[in-house]
Amino acid sequence: MNTVTPAAAGASAADGVLSGRTALVTGAGSGIGRACAVALAAAGAHVHAVDRDADSVTEVAHAVGGRAHVVDLADLPAIGGLPGEIDVLVNNAGFQHVAPLGEFPPERFELMHRVMVTAPLLLMQRCLPHMKSAGWGRIVNVSSVHGLRASANKAGYVAAKHALEGLSKVAAIEGAPHGITSNCVNPGYVRTPLVERQLDDLAAGGTADPLASVLLDRTPVKRLLEAEEVAAAVLWLCGPGGGFATGSSLTLDGGWTAN
Ligand code: NAD
Repeated sequence: MNTVTPAAAGASAADGVLSGRTALVTGAGSGIGRACAVALAAAGAHVHAVDRDADSVTEVAHAVGGRAHVVDLADLPAIGGLPGEIDVLVNNAGFQHVAPLGEFPPERFELMHRVMVTAPLLLMQRCLPHMKSAGWGRIVNVSSVHGLRASANKAGYVAAKHALEGLSKVAAIEGAPHGITSNCVNPGYVRTPLVERQLDDLAAGGTADPLASVLLDRTPVKRLLEAEEVAAAVLWLCGPGGGFATGSSLTLDGGWTAN
């Protein structure tokens, strides 16, 4: 389990900027979602932490003084039970499946779209009425470099993240008259369990030094990104400095997409 402190999330500089705000973070039990929950709470937000993993989301909610919601976002009707009076929505939950296009299981492809595109749509629909009546809202969609570029063997993930990019832009355009911004953050490879599983799979498949030879091959900055660095970008988008950023895709990729 990650131990993320507010100071590590860079939140000390953002103390209080989200006081009085309520945030909902999906996939908050691990990795980037956990770091976002910590950073948003440290900035003063009351955090609703959503995850399908009961133990981890309960622990995170307890750590940040927020509330845990054990929900599998693939179960779309269950989203109707989540709170709608939300000022900051972070659509973060996601997962990877690696397989060649010709063998990509259609049911897995559809599940990826349900969790990473349809669930964010339903959460936006749930939160927008409150954001509109408040005249303020922040939607941050955790996309990926794979929302902007493709890699082999990631048909479901690349397609779902590209769809999330489009959804985020529509929310930006429709939200603008109401003081609502919507942006994507686009990390490269982040040191989280999702990436550790990919490294294990590559190593099990016989790839030597998978971190250097595969994951960081195209990345000029030769290190993994930390979840706290993603959370700091999410926090900036939600804070006073990010008010004019909307419809954007903020790459945090060590130069991967520039290469
Ligand atoms: P992670 O596996 O560490 O955490 C993902 C969390 O989402 C887990 O707690 C998991 O239980 C939860 N989750 C997954 N499916 C769910 C569902 N159906 N319902 C509810 N909760 C669910 O992963 P992470 O690396 O922190 O990834 C978070 C997001 O960041 C994902 O959208 C991922 O695509 C994106 N991302 C990750 C990386 C990376 O390198 N790790 C890079 C770019 C983008």
